[in-house]
Amino acid sequence: MSFTLHGVGVGGGIAIGHAHLVSHETLDVLYFVLPSFLVPQEVERFDQAIAATRAEMESLRASIPASAPAELSAFLDLHLMILGDSTLSEAPKRMIEEQRCNAEWALKQQMEALIAQFESFDDAYLRERRHDVVQVVERVMKSLLGHPGQSPFEGGKAKENSILVAHDLSPADMILFKQNQFAAFITDVGGTTSHTAILARSLSIPSVVALHNARQLINEHDQIIVDGSQGVVIVNPDRAILDEYRLRQEQWELERQKLKRLKTAKATTLDGTHIELMANIELAEDIDQVKAHGAEGIGLFRSEFLFMNRDDLPSEDEQFEAYRKVAKAMKGLPVTVRTLDLGADKQPRFAVQTSDNPALGLRAIRLCLAEPQMFLTQLRAILRASHYGAIQILVPMLTSLGELNQTLALVERAKQSLKEEGIPFDEAIKLGGMIEVPAAALTVKSLAKKLDFLSIGTNDLIQYTLAIDRTDEAVAKLYDPLHPAVLKLVAATIHTGRMLGIPVAVCGEMAGDASLTRLLLGFGLREFSMHPAHLLAVKQQILKTNLPTAESLAQKVLKAWEPEKILALVAKLNEA
Ligand code: PEP
Ligand code: MG
Repeated sequence: MSFTLHGVGVGGGIAIGHAHLVSHETLDVLYFVLPSFLVPQEVERFDQAIAATRAEMESLRASIPASAPAELSAFLDLHLMILGDSTLSEAPKRMIEEQRCNAEWALKQQMEALIAQFESFDDAYLRERRHDVVQVVERVMKSLLGHPGQSPFEGGKAKENSILVAHDLSPADMILFKQNQFAAFITDVGGTTSHTAILARSLSIPSVVALHNARQLINEHDQIIVDGSQGVVIVNPDRAILDEYRLRQEQWELERQKLKRLKTAKATTLDGTHIELMANIELAEDIDQVKAHGAEGIGLFRSEFLFMNRDDLPSEDEQFEAYRKVAKAMKGLPVTVRTLDLGADKQPRFAVQTSDNPALGLRAIRLCLAEPQMFLTQLRAILRASHYGAIQILVPMLTSLGELNQTLALVERAKQSLKEEGIPFDEAIKLGGMIEVPAAALTVKSLAKKLDFLSIGTNDLIQYTLAIDRTDEAVAKLYDPLHPAVLKLVAATIHTGRMLGIPVAVCGEMAGDASLTRLLLGFGLREFSMHPAHLLAVKQQILKTNLPTAESLAQKVLKAWEPEKILALVAKLNEA
């Protein structure tokens, strides 16, 4: 019987293959009472399972291939940390001793207690970590049940067109994606911020998460179509659907191959206007991807990721090394280091804030100004790294001139301290501001006069203009880059920057959406910064763009109010 499932697409492309089910039975454990003389042995068995799981994870971490995404070792560290939590590694032993129950049962009870703790967090990212707890416990269970290290790839190498169907997949399992050819994977759980989703994106494998009960509905060897772009899974498709998707798959592949040829092409419009295409990165390790897609520099280095998944603040030297590594690897190309944008959905472990409205709270530059010592440490590290490449500083979430003035004063202080210590840095280092709050967009002229460049953070500009929490799925449908208010703020910011003769970039997701490339060009944008994976598709749009036509249609878009009219004009712009 053919049926269709809908989830969240997290990796683009289409895959057609046969289901390979990943077992999730390890957590269905039985309860039994042990005779007292067996209790010490049971505790010992539990200890051994924990030790074996730790050894297995450590060996996985040591064998991460160089080509694996940088997040992988961070995820394994997180799993090791969960394994070391006393709720999982110690409390079950007390349960075994006190209740004389079997180790599997004790572990399962403790897992549920830990999951309940994670579920009570307000923060969506932290709530999602309950899946990591389950993944870790599954590993220990496998060890207790006598088949440790079992992976989704049991029984040797996977077939090339296998589609992994899992309740959930652990990041450790994902390492094997690099060594086994899988066509796609689909999972019951996971959201757009789950680790599985983050990894899927960086691996560029078609994948769909949040399918709820795919694992129950799909049988081993069922034929499946996975459409990672639409978030659709078709099980046992009929001939006509299969033919249609084969065609779409070929077209997608052809497109990708064509795009690869654009890597070294200059991004110029039909009249020869050069457009700068830059990359967004989270970690120094992302540089390989930046180079693979031919970016002309880093338009956004989200430095806060250096501060996450750890219990302490990174020292000045550690930060300096990270920034220097990127600067040197980019060999003179611009590297825009954004100062800390912690807060809201990016809470570091060392200072978990509780706030009813974290996106409107002590976030980004507000937090930095409230913690000047932490900010000065970062500024000194960035300045020191500027001696080794073309680094520039970008300040997130500016809202008022007062904040900018305070920031400038702290930059001066950091420079002064380095001078006094005789430490070299680029004295002419450029300082830019992110325009991502409507207040900043509306007063951009006053800010721009004191800045060297602007970068529009459309992700937040949309969030704050439309009053839509970007992490709240309940209002996700209302998150609209084409809302006339958003378009007017973006266009006006670009216009002001150009009038004042300072560069303006867009570094939010709008920059990487090829269906908006011409509209932004029409508004006068000449610099785009995006995830490297989107760069070639955007370049392709640029190469086919007639600027005067784009400019005149973009003006019409700005005069329209009705959503249908705006959509029709953008479609016309993309066909022109
Ligand atoms: C943005 O807000 O558009 C942006 C680029 O910053 P972030 O997504 O990191 O908030
Ligand atoms: Mg932002």
